[in-house]
Amino acid sequence: MITSNIKYGLFNDESDLLYNAPSLGKLKKRFPQYIKNAEKAQLYGRRLARDVLLPKALETDEKCHEDPTFFDQEVWKAFNDAKINICWLPKEFGGLGWSMLDYAAAAEELLAADIGNASTHLFNGFWIMAVVSDMRLDLFMHAAREIIQANNKKRPVFFSWAVTEPAGGTDNLFKEPCKTGRPTMEIEKMSGGYQLNGSKCFISNGSLAHYVLFAASVDRERPLETMGCFFVPTDSKGFSVGRVEHKMGQKAFQTAELVLKDVFVPDKNIWVQPGKGMQHTTEILSVTSGSVALNGIAVARGAVEKCIQFACQKKTGGLRLIDENWVQIAIAEMLGEIKAVRSRFYDFVIALDTLHFASLMTKVPMKLAMIPRELLLTKPCKWITDQKRVSDITSAYKKSIVPEETVNYFKSYSSELKVTGSNLGMKITSRVLDIVGLEGMTRDHGIEKLFRDAKLLQIYDGINQVHSVQHFNDEFRKVIR
Ligand SMILES: Cc1cc2nc3c(=O)[nH]c(=O)nc-3n(C[C@H](O)[C@H](O)[C@H](O)COP(=O)(O)OP(=O)(O)OC[C@H]3O[C@@H](n4cnc5c(N)ncnc54)[C@H](O)[C@@H]3O)c2cc1C
Repeated sequence: MITSNIKYGLFNDESDLLYNAPSLGKLKKRFPQYIKNAEKAQLYGRRLARDVLLPKALETDEKCHEDPTFFDQEVWKAFNDAKINICWLPKEFGGLGWSMLDYAAAAEELLAADIGNASTHLFNGFWIMAVVSDMRLDLFMHAAREIIQANNKKRPVFFSWAVTEPAGGTDNLFKEPCKTGRPTMEIEKMSGGYQLNGSKCFISNGSLAHYVLFAASVDRERPLETMGCFFVPTDSKGFSVGRVEHKMGQKAFQTAELVLKDVFVPDKNIWVQPGKGMQHTTEILSVTSGSVALNGIAVARGAVEKCIQFACQKKTGGLRLIDENWVQIAIAEMLGEIKAVRSRFYDFVIALDTLHFASLMTKVPMKLAMIPRELLLTKPCKWITDQKRVSDITSAYKKSIVPEETVNYFKSYSSELKVTGSNLGMKITSRVLDIVGLEGMTRDHGIEKLFRDAKLLQIYDGINQVHSVQHFNDEFRKVIR
């Protein structure tokens, strides 16, 4: 078992945000609070990672291997108390009021400690992100109220996003492959809503979810042109959870098959009208795919930190492994690669805070709308926010702040980062296994776990190859004919 006797990475008690990304120092001079908050968030995440996730990471992986539905209530409670599930909500609403930079700084620590368990809880904040992408006030307020009340009452509330079907995952995420995709879900227009039949698979947190947003096409012959998004509470008649997958990695992050049999979705729960689903999906991916890079950085960094700890303890021929030149060179090279991708990632995160959905929270009309939490939960407030006209105004405002060109630009940026970050995770965990050797193959050190965890990053949120094709096309479509 590796012990933590050096104050580095997860065991460093000081924030190293600026050390790792020095350009933030310049930003700190101009916007001191923005960077100070992120430094605080990093230490907040690091403490939670060290106290709650790290000690249990291997045990949880083992338990989930035996039973893929295992859910650690203690970890959930610690995350709920720490308000990670409502970190993106403004402080006035009872949240942590985190920017994307705060979120990224904290999330890297949590993911480095145990990507499986951390993802279960971090991914849940995705609900708020998904509603902000349309900025329909009724949906935003519904999500905010649900999450706040659940947090207050100390009960879990989980949200999932279901796109993948047995016949296609990546197909449903990108315009070009979607045109020729073969969706299997059947969606029928009924009076007052739609009826859904079929199944989705590999849905993160699907087995825990209270609400699921289904992206699916109404006309299976024209999947791209008719994709819509349907909001389904999981206590709806006809909804059930099928198989929970036995995965190779990130075992604590449950992925499940979801089955729909004559599930009726009333008009008020049509989140995105058929025809506009792909633009919505594109907007979500323009943030989430880039964020997968953070997972790659975190597993890579987790592996290097374990490698350093191991090399400080391991002796060969009377010499500590860490004193060997070839080990020092390998570690230095890996750190350089991690830092390079991290810099690019922080660039992306700051751009999200400046230009994309996260910038909305800093705008004056949004600040004026930050009413105290007690008012938010009242019936008159609900009545106002449920008015369609109000949602039309907020939605139009959001589109004026984040126009389609911005979303498309970020989609490409996100694709580039997703590939680079996930490949980094795979490469570094593999190299660390080479250095540690035979002992790394055993479960005891947690290094083989990081390798298993890393592989999934190249697959989910759209497989890497398709992201690369997308990135190539976006970069060169205009110049190569
Ligand atoms: C842990 C985990 C969590 C997940 N969570 C979710 C979730 O919450 N919600 C959700 O909807 N889905 C989720 N998924 C599904 C995931 O998004 C898909 O698995 C992923 O998009 C890949 O799709 P696929 O498996 O259908 O593979 P495909 O996209 O079919 O790829 C299979 C092969 O075909 C190749 N290929 C496919 N299309 C092209 C192309 N156009 N050009 C070149 N090559 C191509 C690929 O490179 C690959 O080699 C999750 C998956 C995992 C593993």
